[in-house]
Parts: sequence; C-alpha cells; structure tokens
Amino acid sequence: KKNPLPKPKWMKESVPGGSKYAKIKKKLRDLNLHTVCEEAKCPNLGECWSGGETGTATATIMILGDTCTRGCRFCNVKTSRTPPPPDPNEPFNVAEAVTSWGLDYIVITSVDRDDLADQGSGHFAETVQKLKILKPDILVEALVPDFRGDSSCVEKVSASGLDVFAHNIETVEELQSSVRDHRANFNQSIEVLKMAKNYASAGTLTKTSIMLGCGETPDQVVKTMEKVRAAGVDVMTFGQYMRPSKRHMPVSEYVTPEAFEKYRNLGMDMRDNAMMISGSIAFEWGKNFKAIISKVNFGSCQGFRYIASGSMVRSSYKAGEYYIKSMIE
Ligand code: SF4
Ligand code: SF4
Repeated sequence: KKNPLPKPKWMKESVPGGSKYAKIKKKLRDLNLHTVCEEAKCPNLGECWSGGETGTATATIMILGDTCTRGCRFCNVKTSRTPPPPDPNEPFNVAEAVTSWGLDYIVITSVDRDDLADQGSGHFAETVQKLKILKPDILVEALVPDFRGDSSCVEKVSASGLDVFAHNIETVEELQSSVRDHRANFNQSIEVLKMAKNYASAGTLTKTSIMLGCGETPDQVVKTMEKVRAAGVDVMTFGQYMRPSKRHMPVSEYVTPEAFEKYRNLGMDMRDNAMMISGSIAFEWGKNFKAIISKVNFGSCQGFRYIASGSMVRSSYKAGEYYIKSMIE
C-alpha cells in the first residue's frame, strides 16, 4: 500500500555535520564501535553527541547482534528464528570502547533474542557491570525487550547497577496487536516495567516510549500515559512514527509540534495539581480536549520525572541531558 501522506514541513531532517562530529566519528572508527545513532542516520545526532546545555553526551549502541527473532510492523531490523549466537567478548569490548570514548550517558539496546535460554538478559547485565567497573560515573540506560515477562530476566538486568531501565510499549494499549509482534502485549510490558522498579536499587528510573502516528486517538494516548505512570514509570517519550519502507505499516498522521507539546505538558503537569492541569489545557487546547481531560485521572497520579516529546524524538533523544536536568529540578 502506498503511504498517501506527504511529509509536513516540520519533518524536514537536518543532516549532522561540523568538525566536532567528524572528530567523534573518526574516534569511533578507531575504536571499531558502531552506534545506532550513525547506522540509523538519526537526525538528532548533533544534539545528542554534543551533550547540550548540561554537556551530557548521549549515544546508543546495540548489542546481541543485528538480527531479531521478532517482526514488528514498524521495524526495519533483519529477522530470523535462529540468529547467530552472541559474541561472549562483546560485554567487555563494548565497555572498553564506550568508556574510552568519553561519553557521559550510554543507552544499550538490543534486538529480541527469544532463541536464547536467558533471552539475552545475562549479556545485558554483564555489559552494564563491565561499564560500571571501567567508568563508575558513566550513566547507563538499558533499553530492553519484554523478556516475555520472565521475572528472572528482568531481575538480572534491573539489579545490574544501571541507572535507567527502559522498555518500550511502542504504542497505545488499543493498537498493540496491530503494531507489535504477536508475542508482545501491553500488560506484559507494563508488568516488566513494574518488576524492574521493584528489583532495581532505589533511585533507578524506569522509562518507556510510544510512537504517534500509528492510528491512535488523543484519548487513547492520555489513558496510556495514566496507566504507564500508575505503574511507577518515571520517564516517557513520544515521537513520530516514520515508515521505514513500503512493506511497513503506513503513517496514519503527522502529529503537529503543538500536539507533541501538549502531551509533554500534560505528563509534566500530572505532578502538579488537577486544577492547574485542567486550567492550562482548557485554555490552550480549545474544545477538543474537553473530551481528553475528562479521562485524566488527576487524583492518584503524580507526574513524570521528565517527558521528551516531538516529531524527531527517539526514546534515547538527549537522554543524558534530560536525566541531569530532571535531577536538578
Ligand atoms: Fe543516538 Fe538516540 Fe540520540 Fe538518535 S536520539 S542520536 S539514536 S542517542
Ligand atoms: Fe524491531 Fe524490537 Fe520488534 Fe525486533 S522486537 S522487530 S528489534 S521493534
């Protein structure tokens, strides 16, 4: 099916460049390190790698190979039921390369490895541990699969000494089965996030992300935010779904920058009081969101630690800078 929607003007991507970027790139080649930022040609590379206002440089790397045992309808990763086995030296090699690069915040992510006995959780935990041994002050986020809800896998990663446990629910509750692989679902992912909060040491943040433009309604987004927050999740991000190829599901809409901003404000305001939320939304959003605020459960909900929301936002977008800022606030 052809995607009928033309890209709006706010979606024009900027290509990273400049001498600082070139210098970092050369260093990476010397270290033989491959980042998701570069391989996915992420438009945020300049912002993430420079560290922004707090100087907290963020990058994302992928472990456990490039072949996934699942097939989600939005994702461009290669799939196979039997990917090659993981490289046992990878945790050490990654830790060594990342720490000698001088990053402040590293996001470690992976494909899903349903083929492995521990679903790759041991490999994740070892990578975090090695990183923390080599550079104790580096901030580490593990962006992990759902491990099919297996608590021993979640425990292994959560208790590995990481700073942020991230697992993406990808879309609103209602669209889970049409967007994600059939082995994934909303409740299982929410349970994983809850378990992680339980097993991790105090102060560890949990985090999740959804893509907008998959056919969700604003009501569904807000209800999903409430459930995520009720599961104790500290950080949420919102980005625009972009169709990797014509084989993938089409984009339902390009969500406007204003709407992204509304979701961000709503999530942040959940920590203030109900009156202020309803006041600010009603003022800015006009009659449309009367329907939305009627479903927000203000009473029981404390707000998120931070929310990143925007067309170009990926779950790792400026994660280090946001993390530091949210600690200062
Ligand atoms: Fe890298 Fe994520 Fe930032 Fe993109 S958003 S440059 S993938 S850290
Ligand atoms: Fe892509 Fe993750 Fe789905 Fe695998 S599980 S297909 S890597 S989104």
